[in-house]
Amino acid sequence: MSDSLDGRCVVVGASHAGAQVATRLRKLGWQGSIKLIGDEQYLPYHRPPLSKDYLKGAKAKDGIILHAEVAYAKSDVDLMLGHHVERIDRNKKTVELQTGEQIGYDKLVLAVGSRPRELPLPGVELGGVHYLRDVDDVDRIRATASQGGRAVIIGGGYIGLETAASLRHLGMEVTVIEALDRVLQRVTCEPVSRFFTRIHREEGVDIRVQTQVKAIHGDNAVTSVEIVSGEMIETSLVVIGIGIVPNTRLAEDAGLAINNGIDVNPFAQTSDPDIYAVGDCASSIHPRYERQLRLESVQNANDQALVAAKSLCGQPVAYDAVPWFWSDQYDLKLQIAGLAEGADEVIVRGDPDAGRSLSILHLKSGSLLSVDAINRPRDFVFGKKLILEGAVLNIAKLADDNVALNEAVAK
Ligand code: FAD
Repeated sequence: MSDSLDGRCVVVGASHAGAQVATRLRKLGWQGSIKLIGDEQYLPYHRPPLSKDYLKGAKAKDGIILHAEVAYAKSDVDLMLGHHVERIDRNKKTVELQTGEQIGYDKLVLAVGSRPRELPLPGVELGGVHYLRDVDDVDRIRATASQGGRAVIIGGGYIGLETAASLRHLGMEVTVIEALDRVLQRVTCEPVSRFFTRIHREEGVDIRVQTQVKAIHGDNAVTSVEIVSGEMIETSLVVIGIGIVPNTRLAEDAGLAINNGIDVNPFAQTSDPDIYAVGDCASSIHPRYERQLRLESVQNANDQALVAAKSLCGQPVAYDAVPWFWSDQYDLKLQIAGLAEGADEVIVRGDPDAGRSLSILHLKSGSLLSVDAINRPRDFVFGKKLILEGAVLNIAKLADDNVALNEAVAK
């Protein structure tokens, strides 16, 4: 993997994955130069608070940075913010910035993340219509939200629902429009969707499923959203959250293999052994699930970045992490570990139709595949451990809400 520890390493993309690679490299013994190039103006920051505490105003920019500036200096990482990498020349081993400046590398790491999927509808260009991916997006959403009124959120995924909860906190009326049969359909099971639909409705959110938007209307700024039935919903703010697409253009133009993301091996190496890819932009065959996966989570960005840093430093360890994720809405923390695919048994602990906590366990042949835990941190922690261990479990005990999950291992 590593030819030498004193080469020039260039990391493109300064967010969760990029900042993790750059700072870890030094700790793992990289002796050469490290450049971390990102096109945002700000110090790398935590993205999850954007739809949560940062949107609510409970955290400021300073409160969401990943590392203080001094940490990069201490690791002798040359932080180049506000620079967009336009292209990679694999023959010359250079990347070119938007200014035309060429920067040479011996090893290159692509941590370029993803961007919001665009909604091809009339009116998306109007003022007051936003996507939500970075700090600047949220500053714009907050400015519009401060005028009050109704917000329409297009998309009932995590970003849409978290945004709905935060805008309710800011005092707005909120409508969520979801095209599929249920919210969170792409990412979780029916009882969890039912639970969150109920909670949002109890919190005053107007949730519409199986509903499609036809157009967004207004002169300069949005004034209404037209749904396919012909109904017009008056609004001054639209937030579109219909998923993301990986940033693969740089890699594609450079001739690297792409497979719903930049294709990497278990060591985060692309089809060019001197170029690595990590985080939201990378996809690989996950050894636990034996299929090509592209994960969109902080856990994956951090874990895959560590795998790349180790490979670059000649200490290769294949990626094999159990995926996990969280979402915060109102007073609820949803924590998910594992993937439910292939389950032959589902156990529900708690009642999706009442209360503010619930766990759903997915099993295959008596072993736990995944846990979705809402306000049940113990179920999440024990569940994650049981998934890792692959232990065979006692189903009757699992189904007993009074028994801790770690006590359900079959003797
Ligand atoms: P990104 O964070 O997308 O960073 C990529 C960086 O590269 C960006 O700064 C981008 O501007 C830059 N870049 C791209 N191209 C170039 C280029 N050519 N030159 C220079 N720079 C470039 N995950 C969770 O696990 N839990 C959550 O609760 C959660 N909530 C979220 C809430 C929101 C609002 C969002 C947007 C995401 C959330 N996520 C959450 C997902 C998580 O933030 C991402 O999985 C994570 O940010 C991925 O990190 P990354 O470094 O791979 O990519």
